[in-house]
Amino acid sequence: MDGQNALGTSIVVKMFPLPFFLHFVLEEGMLEVDCPCVTPEVVLKASGHVDKFTDLMVKDEKTGNCYRADHLLKDFCKDKLEKDQTLSPEQAEEYNKILAILDDLSAEQLGAKIKEYGIVAPDTKNPLSDPYPFNLMFQTSIGPSGLSPGYMRPETAQGIFVNFKDLYYYNGNKLPFAAAQIGQAFRNEISPRQGLLRVREFTLAEIEHFVDPEDKSHPKFGDVSDLEFLMFPREDQMAGRSATRLKLGNAVSEGTVNNETLGYFIGRVYLFLTQLGIDKDRLRFRQHLPNEMAHYAADCWDAEIECSYGWIECVGIADRSAYDLRAHSDKSGEKLEAHEKFAEPREVEKLVITPSKKELGLAFKGNQRMVLEALEAMGETEALDMKATLESKGEVEFKVCTLGKDVTIKKSMVSINIEKKKEHQRKFTPSVIEPSFGIGRIIYCLFEHCFYQRPGKAEDEQLNVFGFPPLVAPIKCTVFPLVKLEKFEVVAKKISKALTAAGISHIIDMTGNTIGKRYARTDELGVPLAITVDNTTSVTVRDRDSKDQIRVEVDEVASVVKEVMDGQSTWADIMWRYPTHTASAAEDEAEP
Ligand code: AMP
Repeated sequence: MDGQNALGTSIVVKMFPLPFFLHFVLEEGMLEVDCPCVTPEVVLKASGHVDKFTDLMVKDEKTGNCYRADHLLKDFCKDKLEKDQTLSPEQAEEYNKILAILDDLSAEQLGAKIKEYGIVAPDTKNPLSDPYPFNLMFQTSIGPSGLSPGYMRPETAQGIFVNFKDLYYYNGNKLPFAAAQIGQAFRNEISPRQGLLRVREFTLAEIEHFVDPEDKSHPKFGDVSDLEFLMFPREDQMAGRSATRLKLGNAVSEGTVNNETLGYFIGRVYLFLTQLGIDKDRLRFRQHLPNEMAHYAADCWDAEIECSYGWIECVGIADRSAYDLRAHSDKSGEKLEAHEKFAEPREVEKLVITPSKKELGLAFKGNQRMVLEALEAMGETEALDMKATLESKGEVEFKVCTLGKDVTIKKSMVSINIEKKKEHQRKFTPSVIEPSFGIGRIIYCLFEHCFYQRPGKAEDEQLNVFGFPPLVAPIKCTVFPLVKLEKFEVVAKKISKALTAAGISHIIDMTGNTIGKRYARTDELGVPLAITVDNTTSVTVRDRDSKDQIRVEVDEVASVVKEVMDGQSTWADIMWRYPTHTASAAEDEAEP
């Protein structure tokens, strides 16, 4: 769908799933699912995507070219701040404020600012339309009749929600539990741009952690509560302040972060991203502004990473309350609930609404069912108000939405009571905490954060290095025979076999180029370790970043590489155990 995405996807396949699996799926004992990309309309209607998954768009009034309204306003403000030397402090303050609250602006507010600043179509300078919502889903139809509408999924999460019942059963009908899914998502972006950062088909990794809404504590919160990192609460954004370093434990206990489970996942995402190689000083957690957050969400934080395009939202971590499961339950009639069995039966007070079918039938005839359903659907406060009015006045006016009018309810038509009941279990709709990872974005930022240059031998020469940590490096190790000699090639092949058996991705370079050239190439690919076969019994192992070299027996070398790649030992640990290698052509990085 997008040329760049093919590249993104192939890199992602190698770099992302294993660390994600180890850090989240294995650590938390999560379930994993793989749901279809083509999704029936009914699912996305229930989730609200058909009606509300929109971005605000403006059109060039003459050519019809489309632009994202918030992007135009953002570019305008940034441009002014960076290039306009005549800007007064008040104007600069205003543009900074707009940038801080951009995601919070409604269609009307965006349109008003576009008009006020005289923003026109960037390509033609023609006037622009008012902003209007554009649905981002790709529509299709399922099956040959064309009668069954569907969409390419805009996120993977809905597949997990509709399968909740089976997943809950599979987990022994116990909460909390989580299910994870890595897969493609499709969004018909108005203006895809910035390489992997905004594309129309991209890889998402999503976790849905289901939890009791009455107990959002997390048994492992203590493991992350001492972490301290850049956080950007909404009050600080609205006041034009910068992100500050906060201790996660304090952010939760002071109520900045809504609950422990959400805090736990924020902490785990911080550890994950920094272990991948993201620079902790260019990573912040920004809380959603009031309008930016979905109305049903309890709290939401984005992990944003700074790169050459600015601060980019890479992971969204939201407490979506019980919205999704309730929405699917309501639409399908299938109860997506959890239950808690009590050790002892509990006496509870319950509201019991008992409409009289006979009286309602006499009074409302064909509309009887609608009135009855509306009475049964009343919340506790509304029902108790009705009871009080019926007792004092004998009748009450009652709005029935499905009829679109008020009807008069008489005392004989309904009985409303609070009754004491013994309950053996509690049924409830679980809340869900959702970390959602945009993998292409993380990988792109990782490329920038891991890239560095160092001087080569030649004057002014700079050599490129990708300093990927072993965990994410797509190629873990290279094997070079020092010179083109059969006896070295035999050893290189033997080592390659041992590496394959140990599950280490590697390449053999038999090109016979100078060793300096081969090291430079392997550094450019971000390969952490290089093995140079310069002897038939022992070989040289060279670390990419320090360029240190050690000598290791041929039979041991694969297990040494594996130790470092699995994170059981660091290169520094290994350096203690093996003799440093000096003075041979193998460390001569002279002429790349
Ligand atoms: P959202 O459901 O909108 O919060 O998106 C979840 C994650 O998907 C975001 O945090 C981004 O990292 C990523 N993402 C969203 N839209 C795109 C896109 N068009 N291209 C690449 N990644 C995206």
